[in-house]
Amino acid sequence: MLHLYDTQSRTIRELSPIDGKRFRFYCCGPTVYGPAHIGNFRTFVLQDVFRRVLELGGVTTMHVRNLTDVDDKTIRDSQKAGMSLADFTQGWTDKFHADCAALNCLPPHIEPSAVSHIPEQIRMVEDLMTKGHAYASEDGSVYFKISSFGEYGQLSHLDKRELDLGKTANERSNADEYEKDSVADFVLWKARRPEDGPNYWQSPWGEGRPGWHLECSAMINKYFGPDFDLHSGGVDLVFPHHENEVAQSRCACGGHFARNWFHITHLLVDGGKMSKSLGNMYTLEDLSRLGHIPEAVRYVLAGGYYRRPLNFTLDSLNDARASLARLSKFDMQLAERSGNAAIPPYKQLCRKTPDLGEFQAAWDSLNDDLNTPEALGHVYSAIKRINVQELSQEQAHAVRIAFHFILSAFGITPVAKEQSQEEAPEDVKALAEQRWIAKQNKDWTAADTLRGQVADLGWTIKDRKDGFDLIRS
Ligand code: AMP
Ligand code: ZN
Repeated sequence: MLHLYDTQSRTIRELSPIDGKRFRFYCCGPTVYGPAHIGNFRTFVLQDVFRRVLELGGVTTMHVRNLTDVDDKTIRDSQKAGMSLADFTQGWTDKFHADCAALNCLPPHIEPSAVSHIPEQIRMVEDLMTKGHAYASEDGSVYFKISSFGEYGQLSHLDKRELDLGKTANERSNADEYEKDSVADFVLWKARRPEDGPNYWQSPWGEGRPGWHLECSAMINKYFGPDFDLHSGGVDLVFPHHENEVAQSRCACGGHFARNWFHITHLLVDGGKMSKSLGNMYTLEDLSRLGHIPEAVRYVLAGGYYRRPLNFTLDSLNDARASLARLSKFDMQLAERSGNAAIPPYKQLCRKTPDLGEFQAAWDSLNDDLNTPEALGHVYSAIKRINVQELSQEQAHAVRIAFHFILSAFGITPVAKEQSQEEAPEDVKALAEQRWIAKQNKDWTAADTLRGQVADLGWTIKDRKDGFDLIRS
């Protein structure tokens, strides 16, 4: 069973579903106003590894990740681009999906967006007002009154002295993001401003739009109710975003909200923070232009322990490529030795854990606070110890299944030469063709769906510049 560090209790805890059936977890998703950068993808890839470890361990999951498609930044940039907010954010949502697919991240089971949940958000503000946790200001904005929630600050362990719970209408924050030293009543509903253009909705307090923190609380309540298993995001979200979510949700809906909190430490580039001015906010497209493959990006992002900062360098991508080649070589040897017997696809591996043999230690490390670097270390030690030529055909097949099981947890697919030469059946080829056409037409949604259908049939699409290969997964 997976054990994970919980931000609030500061302890490592065993994870098991509250309802005994499905592990329900929520991840704060991207703000869709531009391409996601590799820092964002560190978080999304590690959340994907987390989900895979749960699923491969036999746990059924329900993964919800939102899309922030209305906030200060999306409105500002859609106007700069001369586009409607909906068209602008749809374009970046499609791009995000394409990047996630290239990085082999499993799509969430539900992906709700802020704009499609305005009534739910308004209802939550009404609830908070009725219960005395929110107040309207003169300009039609509505604020959460933090002095009304005595447990405010528990998640982020804010020093009580930093918290001036007496701050009221005169000292409050209308910004979506702010720093720890300016704890203040935060905005739930923002009154319409001229710069919002056509992006406003009717509410009992006049025209306006929801504040950023509200959407996650409203969607969590809709899809999970007041109690659920785990909430996740990058470490920058602990305060104020997650702290504010706790306050809104517990005051409006009762219940405990998230039982566990999984926060991912930030990615650094060349030892420093990423910034636009330094030109180091790499996107997947930037890295591809420099000749790097998404598999190598995933390897680097998945391979760093989530509780330590990850220092990303272009050199680390070259090393990752060499490591992937080493894994593929081992897989090829096993494939040859086992007579190319088929490997069960991911969903089947989730149903029954195979005998992991030499790879047991790697699996144990993954379950011990998602220690991915230690797990990779065990994988390479196992590869060193195993002499493929001494294995019988059956043994080689069993080792190969265990090897694929571990690599599935990382979301890495080794490509054995023999496998890539295996001819795909006609129905798989037809779906892959349709996906290629959808991709050429930049219809990322259809392309993702088709890629998923091909994966369900046990095949992986690997894109080349001018076409694609179909590889048995
Ligand atoms: P955003 O699109 O800015 O809302 O961020 C999407 C996700 O990426 C959030 O969970 C952030 O906490 C996370 N994130 C942002 N920057 C980084 C970074 N440098 N390293 C890791 N995660 C990050
Ligand atoms: Zn959120």
